[in-house]
Amino acid sequence: MRVLIVEDDELLAAGLMRVLEHSGYAVDRASNGEQADHALTVDHFDLVVLDIGLPGMDGFSVLKRLRSRGESCPVMILTARDDVADKVRGLDSGADDYLVKPFVLNEFEARLRALIRRSSLVNSSQLGCGDLMLDTVARRAWVRHNELMLTAREWAVLEYLLLRQGQVLSKEKILQAVCNWDESISPNAIEVYMSRLRVKLESAGVNIRTIRGFGYLLEASEGVPQTEH
Ligand code: CA
Repeated sequence: MRVLIVEDDELLAAGLMRVLEHSGYAVDRASNGEQADHALTVDHFDLVVLDIGLPGMDGFSVLKRLRSRGESCPVMILTARDDVADKVRGLDSGADDYLVKPFVLNEFEARLRALIRRSSLVNSSQLGCGDLMLDTVARRAWVRHNELMLTAREWAVLEYLLLRQGQVLSKEKILQAVCNWDESISPNAIEVYMSRLRVKLESAGVNIRTIRGFGYLLEASEGVPQTEH
């Protein structure tokens, strides 16, 4: 999942990015309203964390412009004070949730997960296929009763595939979903993640098929002929 953090406070932005990257999200940051507005116009994000008090164009304007383009991605606003008027105005402008500064990073993470769960992308906190189960809230994965250890990047790729199981996904699409602006990962790296995931998912009843010339497809392997294309 790709997340845009719009925050002018360097320290806070770095903290938020660290938390999200650790959880396997692809995170980018904008430090003012214009930059955020531009990023949201040219790129797709699954989630936006938006500070209201920004230099230049403020968070309310960024949010209004986003919604006026028909974008429905979930937005969490950050407000500086426990100001009821700000909260109401934010929710009226199309925010899905708000967090009042200062907050602890654990709360931020929990609220963000709840927001993702409520959004249309993930209707349940649990994603499954075959004998594999991912708990997107606890960020833990199991094959039957055995916990599966995944790196943050492996997690991101697997979550993306599971959310779109049965669909053929190109390497470029997968890369876009799991990398931020600063990462120059070649599409070939995706092949490496796929082969690592295949090893880890050997007894999970899950098949990651290579569709030559197109990309990858994840499906349950029970009753499905194991033919490589
Ligand atoms: Ca600010």
